Amino acid sequence: MRYLIAANWKMNKTVAESIDYIEIFKDLVKEVEGVEIMIAPSFTALSSVSILLEKTNISLGAQNMFYVERGAYTGEISPIMLTELNVKYVILGHSERRHIFGEKDELINKKVLTAVEFGLRPILCVGETLEERELGKTMNVVERQIRAGIAGLEREISLIDIAYEPVWAIGTGVNATVEQAQEVHHFIRNLINDISKGNDKDTRILYGGSVNEKNASELIKAPDVEGFLVGTASLDPQKFYKIILSS
Ligand code: PGA
Repeated sequence: MRYLIAANWKMNKTVAESIDYIEIFKDLVKEVEGVEIMIAPSFTALSSVSILLEKTNISLGAQNMFYVERGAYTGEISPIMLTELNVKYVILGHSERRHIFGEKDELINKKVLTAVEFGLRPILCVGETLEERELGKTMNVVERQIRAGIAGLEREISLIDIAYEPVWAIGTGVNATVEQAQEVHHFIRNLINDISKGNDKDTRILYGGSVNEKNASELIKAPDVEGFLVGTASLDPQKFYKIILSS
């Protein structure tokens, strides 16, 4: 299994800023072979970034998607709009989508199923809030989000990746410890192995939440951490490159 190191730029970088970044970054990583690299820019920058990533070792991702091919859905982005731009990955169920935009497991599941149907590879994000962790509900929450998110794809779970992103660690500078990450990743691995009846070997379990160039080399030592989803630290090409080198 090749680990996946993914950048989630969120609502950052204009088209011009995205182009500047990619020009620097693609040279930095051109010799990297052991891991897969993905960048998810803003929707407005997808088209320009897509052209720049042709014939590079960097895959393109989108940060969200709607589950209908076309129609009267003002402001939404359809799967064929992404595949047309050579988008390979789509981040779904990110905690900011769940908590700021009110996305529920049922909607996220529809998006996951549609993404797979159109040949995109979903990165399904799951994770507990601080309150849920303090109440001892971490595993319950993660299990519910995974079972609901992949419903209908149990045997084809190898077509998706999962990102464990504890909400309290996202954008806070407080990352999960190696032990905390490993505990949940191990739980997820057993869960998806069970749900898929052993068909989970191509599903990577990424960690996300304040990953940076200093803590990446520690976190990647956890046996069930198979890559990262990086927000803040991915906005700087040098920092993101260092994370890739330590993975
Ligand atoms: P962060 O974001 O690295 O800024 O914590 C991670 C994410 O939300 O994917």
